[in-house]
Amino acid sequence: MKALVHDGHGNIALLERPRPKLQEPTDAIVRVTRSTICTSDLHIMRGAVPRALPDTVLGHEFVGVVEEVGSGVTRFSPGDRVAVNCETFCGECFFCKRGWVNNCEHGGWLLGCTIDGCQAEYVRVPMADNAFTRIPNGVSDEDALFLGDILATGWWGVRLAEIEPGSSVAVIGAGPVGLTTMMCARLANPGCIIALDVDEVRLRRAVDHGLADIAINPTGKSQTEVEALVQEATCGRGADAVIEAAGGPDTFEMAWRIARPNAIVVISAMYEQDQTLPLPQMYGKNLIFKTGGVDASGLDEVIALIAAGKLDTSLLISKRYPLDDILEAYRAFEAREDDCLKVVITPAMS
Ligand SMILES: [Zn+2]
Ligand SMILES: [Zn+2]
Repeated sequence: MKALVHDGHGNIALLERPRPKLQEPTDAIVRVTRSTICTSDLHIMRGAVPRALPDTVLGHEFVGVVEEVGSGVTRFSPGDRVAVNCETFCGECFFCKRGWVNNCEHGGWLLGCTIDGCQAEYVRVPMADNAFTRIPNGVSDEDALFLGDILATGWWGVRLAEIEPGSSVAVIGAGPVGLTTMMCARLANPGCIIALDVDEVRLRRAVDHGLADIAINPTGKSQTEVEALVQEATCGRGADAVIEAAGGPDTFEMAWRIARPNAIVVISAMYEQDQTLPLPQMYGKNLIFKTGGVDASGLDEVIALIAAGKLDTSLLISKRYPLDDILEAYRAFEAREDDCLKVVITPAMS
């Protein structure tokens, strides 16, 4: 089968690889019907994810049809349409029992990182009973494509932010994760959603789709000027909750500056550089920081919202490519060509 493999030094190639086989009783083999490229794939390509193994098939955001299951898989059978979680987790360890599946003692982020991922025709999924979310009839592959990764990240970030009805929520970054964050935040009935991004087209999209109420472009403004603009929009207080989904060189500082005292600041972004936490400057602000990698759990609830038409990620899809043209898809995605947000990759046979 064809598979997109990286070498750990910034190079990717579409290679011929053997079709994966079951290795453990809890494994399943999935025929990929749609996959996509995530910014984390670019981080891996650039060598910014130390745990990522070279010579691995990239990709961890996909949907497909169950092709084969091991004897220990009880909830799914061949033929089932499934969205696959970007994280592998056992469901039984200390962390899983608390919903912190990102830190599963027996899993974590494996697919497309330490084991072969989904930018291929088939993929082996470990602990399949936990990894899969059944796609209901009436929900298309594309509707469910982002469930296991960026939509899960938006959902998780909003859960961590503990948004109260009527409150103000600032989301830094109006890219794919920023937009899924805003659409999930909207379901919590905030008073206003403030989107911040240096890209005017992305900001405009967030407002035009009703995901943000106020758009702030920090280009050419100092951190204190951005802080003042957010205060102006929030009765002089700052945002009640801040979700940082940009991961830029100055967006961590922006996140704590625009938060009101006693706010929760959620860091969903993945950085390529260390960030500084200037505690003397923050003293008295009494902030709560929540950081990390998505705990992609509770996705049955999220797919039900998709099926009910309450979450719609179709605005994220910019371009579609067959798997044969995935190198071109990477180029367009990385270059943000024509404001490319997300690409859909379709293996030839589906
Ligand atoms: Zn991802
Ligand atoms: Zn676990």
